Parts: sequence; C-alpha cells; structure tokens
Amino acid sequence: MTFSGKNVLVTGAGKSIGAEIARVLAKLGLKVWINYRSKPELADALQKEIEQNGGQAAVIAFDATDEEAFVGAIKAIVESDGGLSYLVNNAGITNDKLAIRMSTEDFMSVVDANLKSAFIGSRESLKVMSKQRFGSVVNIASIIGERGNAGQSNYAASKGGMIAMTKSFAYEGAPRNVRFNCITPGFIRTDMTESLKDEVKENYVKNIPLARFGETREVASVVAFLLSDESSYITGEIIKVNGGLYM
Ligand code: NAP
Repeated sequence: MTFSGKNVLVTGAGKSIGAEIARVLAKLGLKVWINYRSKPELADALQKEIEQNGGQAAVIAFDATDEEAFVGAIKAIVESDGGLSYLVNNAGITNDKLAIRMSTEDFMSVVDANLKSAFIGSRESLKVMSKQRFGSVVNIASIIGERGNAGQSNYAASKGGMIAMTKSFAYEGAPRNVRFNCITPGFIRTDMTESLKDEVKENYVKNIPLARFGETREVASVVAFLLSDESSYITGEIIKVNGGLYM
C-alpha cells in the first residue's frame, strides 16, 4: 500500500482495535500519533514497540469528548509535523441498558464519546486538510449503527449518526481532495466484547456466516486501505467488516 501523506492520529489507540490500527499504519511507514485518555503505560508501551520495530510513533493524551483538548491536540500535531495527513476516529464506549432503564445521561454519555468526539476530530482535520488539499479520515462505527440492537439504543444512535455524518463530511471534503469513509465492524475480539457472557458470545457466533469473531488486524487492514492511495476514488463509503453477520 502507498501513502502520499506522512502522519496519522488514531484516537483511543492504547489498546485493542486502535492499537492494532497504530501498529499496522506504522509498519506501512506512517508516523503514528497514539491518543489515549487513561492508562499512559499502554500508550507508552505501544510507542516503544513501534519504535523497536523501526517505525515512528508519538503519544498524545486527551479525552476525545473534550473539545478544547482535541482541538489543541490537532493544533500541536500540525505545529510539530507541518500538517496532518490522516485521522482515525476510533475512540468509543458502550453503556448497555434496555431503553426503559436508560437515563438521558446514559444515552448522552455514549453519544458524546462516540459521535461528538468523531465530529470534533472530523471538523478540525477537515480545516487542516482543506488547506493541504489532501487528507483521508476513517470513522470506526459499528454493525449496531446499521441494524440496531436491544440494550444499545445509545450506542446504535451514536454509530448510526457516525455513518450519516461521514457521508456529509465526504460531500464537504471532496472539493478539497479530503476523503471521509467509515468502517462498520461486527463482533471483534477485544476488551469491549470480552465482557460479554460466554452464552451471549456463542449465540452471536451461531449467526455469523464465517462462524467466529473477527480479529483486530482484520479491521486495521481495511483502515489502512481506506487511508491509502489505493482507495483514492473512494469517499463516503461504509465498509462492513462483520464476517457476513449483516449483509
Ligand atoms: P476497547 O477495547 O474498549 O478500546 C476503546 C479505546 O477507546 C480505549 O483505549 C479507550 O480508552 C478509548 N476511549 C474511549 N473513550 C475515549 C475518549 N473519550 N477519549 C480517548 N479515548 C477514549 O474497544 P474496541 O473494541 O477496541 O473498540 C474500538 C472502536 O471500535 C470503538 O469505537 C468501538 O465502538 C468500535 N467497534 C468495536 C467492535 C468490537 O466488537 N470490539 C465492534 C464494532 C465497533 P480507555 O481505556 O481510557 O477507556
């Protein structure tokens, strides 16, 4: 894969899908900015691992729901590197409850973490990338944003919103050669899905045509493709990475 750009910011990259995205992009030659909000030890260890493997990485701490902090982080990256080529809005949380037991705060906290953060990142990077006349952004949404799920009205709203928002940004970015795409993973083996009960996991697997959960590298490789020059004519696209669970 080839990249005309040089650096990438990955939010929520201390572990799981975000960390694997950082590893894969560093291997492909990009300087990776590893964002974390808690657990600096994970981000530091990932930076060391990337550097030991000959890649370039830097750690940047901020809470992606904190507008001032996110805006400041992008400004700092641009000052340091002379620009920002790519952004992956990966940071996300769940807080599952049946809707009748879900407070408005439970709803809004997930929408803030998943959707508001991606909006801030997309808006700020579009400003920078428009001036550069180059850039590519990938938003990590979810299969749940496409089909909904009992107990996840907050998560589904945030990820469904992310899908629609990606298409809107794609229209706005296209005249300046800035692309926005979205990935909708199904069930991927990470801390987020580890917390599910075994019987729930087995039930999901029964319905997945490829008969297993996905691996983080299977999401990361699609992110790399969507950022790379190989996908230069793709924008506003939603790519499912779900083992066939929802076609
Ligand atoms: P994970 O293991 O829970 O990791 C999520 C990461 O995001 C953590 O490092 C977390 O940091 C970080 N994060 C959360 N809120 C943040 C914030 N406000 N600011 C900065 N960082 C923040 O989850 P994952 O499974 O890797 O999921 C990554 C993305 O893929 C999420 O957007 C998720 O919705 C999406 N996804 C996952 C699956 C799946 O099956 N795993 C399926 C579909 C979509 P802390 O440790 O500090 O909380």
